[in-house]
Amino acid sequence: MVREKACKNCRRIVEGDICPMCKSTDMTRSWRGTVVVFDAESEIAKGMNVKAAGRYVIEVK
Ligand SMILES: [Zn+2]
Repeated sequence: MVREKACKNCRRIVEGDICPMCKSTDMTRSWRGTVVVFDAESEIAKGMNVKAAGRYVIEVK
């Protein structure tokens, strides 16, 4: 099983220690809710301020 973390900066779910989106290394394993963004142009993505498709957490703790 892959160990996943969430970037505290942009809330993207990442595998590894560096976020591929914002290059942050500030990760957490505690979050509430996840959302899959298929289209970065969708209203969901805009509402979450997401710039790329992927999996994101709704709220980091
Ligand atoms: Zn990030």
